[in-house]
Amino acid sequence: MTARPPERVGEYNQDQHSTVRSVLDVLSRLSGEERVSLGASMEPYLEFRRRVSVFFDGFFRPSCQDLCFSTGLSGCCGFESIITFFADHVINLMGSSPGQVQALTARIQSPNSSRRCVYLGPEGCLWSLPPVSCAMFLCARVKEIVFQARPEAQPFWAELLQREKDFTLPDKPVLFDGLEAFFIERGSDSSHLFYHRSPGLLRIKSKAGLCRGGKPAGARGVRLS
Ligand code: SF4
Repeated sequence: MTARPPERVGEYNQDQHSTVRSVLDVLSRLSGEERVSLGASMEPYLEFRRRVSVFFDGFFRPSCQDLCFSTGLSGCCGFESIITFFADHVINLMGSSPGQVQALTARIQSPNSSRRCVYLGPEGCLWSLPPVSCAMFLCARVKEIVFQARPEAQPFWAELLQREKDFTLPDKPVLFDGLEAFFIERGSDSSHLFYHRSPGLLRIKSKAGLCRGGKPAGARGVRLS
């Protein structure tokens, strides 16, 4: 009987790993003062994410539990289905303990045979702060159920969606773009630098005058004094 060839680490995992390595490399070279300033630049976003969590726990968690998690039906956390921004990685790694970094790195260096998101562990997501696209994902079915039963949730959700744009929509200087620029200036390269590579996002930045001579401007939105 021929032995099964060992499973390969997929391209998705390799890209994730390369970005994580790139972020960790720059973080390891920052001075203590730079790290504190970088952390301070993320505070308004972290406050936003705390509000998203409170909203989710207050309105959606029980319904998501019943609809998807208890039944195993979950449409989120699917295999290679999430987009991670470079800034998501930076924010997550800045807030992770050495043990969390080690667990996450080990996971993406192994083949993913689970058919679920590579970051989904037995205890849940391995990120200390999951990517913004995960945090802001609510399926149509659950929104219908919750908003019908508790219409007071709808304006809160609309406000959170609007607030998200303050950090991610680059029609003005935003944190997600600024973090990329900050790391690019320090030698980072990654396929997740969408604010500096994606034609769609570059078009928005260009219209807003945020690209100088066709090139993205510097570390806007991230102030290191
Ligand atoms: S990163 Fe975390 S929250 Fe997002 S899909 Fe993967 S396991 Fe789920």
